[in-house]
Amino acid sequence: MRKAGEIVREIKDRIREFVKDGVTTAELDQVAREVIDRRGATSNFLNYHGFPATICTSPNSMIVHGIPGDYRLREGDIISIDCGAIWQGYHGDSAYTIGVGKISRQAEKLLEVTQNSLLAGISVMIPGNHLHDIGREVQKVAESAGFSVVREYVGHGIGTAMHESPNVPNYWPGNPGPKLRPGNVFAVEPMVNVGKADTRVLDDGWSVITADGSLSAHFEDTIVVTDDGPEVLTSEY
Ligand code: MG
Ligand code: MG
Repeated sequence: MRKAGEIVREIKDRIREFVKDGVTTAELDQVAREVIDRRGATSNFLNYHGFPATICTSPNSMIVHGIPGDYRLREGDIISIDCGAIWQGYHGDSAYTIGVGKISRQAEKLLEVTQNSLLAGISVMIPGNHLHDIGREVQKVAESAGFSVVREYVGHGIGTAMHESPNVPNYWPGNPGPKLRPGNVFAVEPMVNVGKADTRVLDDGWSVITADGSLSAHFEDTIVVTDDGPEVLTSEY
């Protein structure tokens, strides 16, 4: 899973270099495909329940699961990139949101808060803590900034499949959930909206947008719980 994580990091780094005014989301998908092929890995997104691409690209008020295509990035956009790879049967899954050129102050704050909410969630991934401590911390950071946390889409266990049980909510669901143990691996992935938390799925059956049209950001990492604390496999923090 470390190796899968390393490949995912390379995909993220490469795409970051290509995000600029005028680039299409299909071109970003091509960048990811090139890394996966060159590294001898396989895509866990392509054909997942029929998903037609290697990454998800979700601009502005799109929260997750956007399909790469002819959408052309414009200065001032924010774009969420969700990507993954399989190495020898093991999965990595990670996402981030970045600005295209200069973005609004509110968009900057959204990106910072969403990433900080992920880091806060990761910080409590310690043996003996409970699974839902993660969401409690995520929610605290997002809501204290005046933003909201999406409820319909959550993080997940990950290993020899991209999505394994249990779910990892980005909010406190009312109970602590199971105890965290060394060797547990989870994809933690807060989706944070400037406006309300409600979501809507577009007619393509994939793209999830904010119901109120407000901006949304998404940060995700694959993390293993160890005796020495959380080890992030898909980012270098
Ligand atoms: Mg993902
Ligand atoms: Mg995920």
